Amino acid sequence: MQATLIDGKALAAAELAQIKREVNALEESGAPTPCLAVILVGEDPASQVYVRNKLLKCEQTGIRSHCYRLDSGVEQGELLGLLARLNADPAVHGILVQLPLPEQIDEAAVIAAIDPDKDVDGFHHENMGRLLAGDPDVLVPCTPLGCLLLLKSVLGDSLAGQHLVVVGRSNIVGKPAALLALQHHCTVTIVHSRTQDIAAVCRRADILIVAVGRARMVTEDWVKPGAVVLDVGINRVEHEGRARLVGDVDFDSVAKVAGAITPVPGGVGPMTIACLLRNTLQAYRHQRG
Ligand code: NDP
Repeated sequence: MQATLIDGKALAAAELAQIKREVNALEESGAPTPCLAVILVGEDPASQVYVRNKLLKCEQTGIRSHCYRLDSGVEQGELLGLLARLNADPAVHGILVQLPLPEQIDEAAVIAAIDPDKDVDGFHHENMGRLLAGDPDVLVPCTPLGCLLLLKSVLGDSLAGQHLVVVGRSNIVGKPAALLALQHHCTVTIVHSRTQDIAAVCRRADILIVAVGRARMVTEDWVKPGAVVLDVGINRVEHEGRARLVGDVDFDSVAKVAGAITPVPGGVGPMTIACLLRNTLQAYRHQRG
């Protein structure tokens, strides 16, 4: 391995420690405590793990959190009613609805019902539009924001002019990651399942962000020597009879050519949660003027 390992776990721990200091300072000044409301619908095992981790990190940083657990058969009206109450509650500063939602619920309608000022996931169309327009104060989706902080940890402020290729064009990772990179003056290319000769495009990247959901799809022949590679993918695979998490990047081969690379787990994932709490603080400050 020649690449520098980008330690997302350590960077997230530092970010959480900073958030904790900021929350302590608020408390000492007599201000109310920032509060995140999390809505979890149904029993999806992965969602349960994600929510548990998010609540745990809230506790560690002193951010107040409340989790609303709804039955998988809940009617959309009930969920929208809960959102309306949380939107109107001045003691709640951030609202997160854990996705995916059960079939009977229209995900887009639910996201649209969250107050954009409390939309700590940054999925509301108003926030997506503001990101597209280059608004620097918008609530940005947590995973792309985490990617940006990881890149800054390696490249400092020298993102300008770098050719950044994003693999994947989802609304929650690929597109906002590309827009954020554009805001930071990268030259941006997005590739996806219909891109022709995708490996050749990726090989031109100074920075490669991979968010696809296909285990070890990106191999060393996709990567320019010295490139910075961020692996967003989380894939559960069988390894010697046991379940194991791997990314979208074939870590062992790519680490031989890349300049720096994130591991899975321990790369982008921990930063995503840290950025959720960062967004909650940002939403709090915005609401309190
Ligand atoms: P989506 O399924 O919404 O999007 C996947 C994207 O990958 C699509 O744009 C799709 O292209 C593209 N794609 C699929 N197959 C190929 C292929 N063979 N070649 C090129 N592109 C392809 O996924 P998400 O963006 O939500 O998530 C991606 C991965 O990141 C998943 O593994 C997910 O678990 C993980 N994730 C990790 C997070 C973290 O905190 N670490 C947070 C969020 C997600 P097209 O549009 O053409 O279909």
